[in-house]
Amino acid sequence: MAFYTLKCALCGREFPAESELKTCPDCGIHGTMHVLYDYDEAKKQIGRASLAADRRVDLWRYEALLPVRKNSRRPALQVGWTPLYDMPQLASEYNVGQLLIKDDGRNPTASLKDRASAVAVTLAAEQNRSVLACASTGNAASSLAGFAANMGLKSVIFVPETAPVAKVTQLLVFGARVFLVKGDYAAAVRLAIEAIEHYGWYDRNCAINPFLVEGKKTCAMEIAEQCGWDVPDKVFVSVGDGCIVSSTYKGFYDLYKVGVIDRIPQIIGVQAEGACPIHRAIQEGADKVIFGPSHTIADSIDVGAPHNWAKALHAIRASRGNTTAVSDAEILSAVAELPRKSGVFAEPAGATAYAGFVKFAREGRLKAPDRVAVIISGNGLKDVASAQKAVPSADKVAPDMKELIKIFG
Ligand SMILES: *Cc1c(COP(=O)(O)O)cnc(C)c1O
Ligand SMILES: [Zn+2]
Repeated sequence: MAFYTLKCALCGREFPAESELKTCPDCGIHGTMHVLYDYDEAKKQIGRASLAADRRVDLWRYEALLPVRKNSRRPALQVGWTPLYDMPQLASEYNVGQLLIKDDGRNPTASLKDRASAVAVTLAAEQNRSVLACASTGNAASSLAGFAANMGLKSVIFVPETAPVAKVTQLLVFGARVFLVKGDYAAAVRLAIEAIEHYGWYDRNCAINPFLVEGKKTCAMEIAEQCGWDVPDKVFVSVGDGCIVSSTYKGFYDLYKVGVIDRIPQIIGVQAEGACPIHRAIQEGADKVIFGPSHTIADSIDVGAPHNWAKALHAIRASRGNTTAVSDAEILSAVAELPRKSGVFAEPAGATAYAGFVKFAREGRLKAPDRVAVIISGNGLKDVASAQKAVPSADKVAPDMKELIKIFG
């Protein structure tokens, strides 16, 4: 790892790594921190040639730009280097130059969150911490639970009582101590923060722990590398708390700073209409995000009070990007269309990024030469009940050819 400093996303004040701060002491909980490396030093450790020779097919190939110690104990689960699919037929249907689908539902616990959890358990082990905790809409929790299990660590999880059953079951099979919090995600976060403080657990809350966005940024780094360093023009990503959108920018930013890529794609953040405070702030040119209640079928982005809003606004603006918001109907239609046309099955929050791409294309906001990547952040099997709303039901038939012909023709 190259030496790093922490920089508040709100006031810009810098702090040394040794300060071990999570958020800025001046700005409080909203002052989330950027992790900035000594890029001249990093350049000596990582570059196009060293990566071309690197045989690792996981996120650790970028470890020179990750906040972990060189020979620290790592989880055995394979995280990252997920496929980036070129979809020429879909590209021509929507009249863009190229459409790339990054299938991050292919990670060990089936969401992009595994990239953050891999770093979290590594850091916890470096610090000899044995219990990790987080609040989550579902995926961060099931991911943390899986990675803690793999490392022989304990996890304590706070999720809203409405979290989809597949995600809660994942938690339980990985042996986590699970609390179903009576209330929404914001309530789960409040309780988790207090409990983490009280018991002294390792904090895997992504917005608060600055190092987790560092793990997630490897998704963008892979997109760049899988494109042969000729990065796409626009990258669509769904937005809840704002960590993934921040990390997408950060991955490209770090590669730009070490001279591996020569530009940063525009980051397009996609929110659900019922939970779009970051979208509103971007459209209004505001420098604050107004919190409020939220409701969407895409549970992973059902966030009315996004914790990482400061970094998210910075990521979208610094990349000359934009935002859009899609309705639950548009999300459900994307849940059905994406697998039918690509073979990639996404949970609603993952399909939201694709719904945003479709909306941009239909509104004429993409140009024919545009090269577009869409990040699919979670696998469809996470939330089968939502997918069932988006597809027709199957026909029942007697085991009799005549009966089949009656139906099939
Ligand atoms: C967590 C999550 C998101 C949203 O990420 P944020 O960092 O909260 O903005 C999107 N999709 C899936 C599948 C997720 O699990
Ligand atoms: Zn600050």
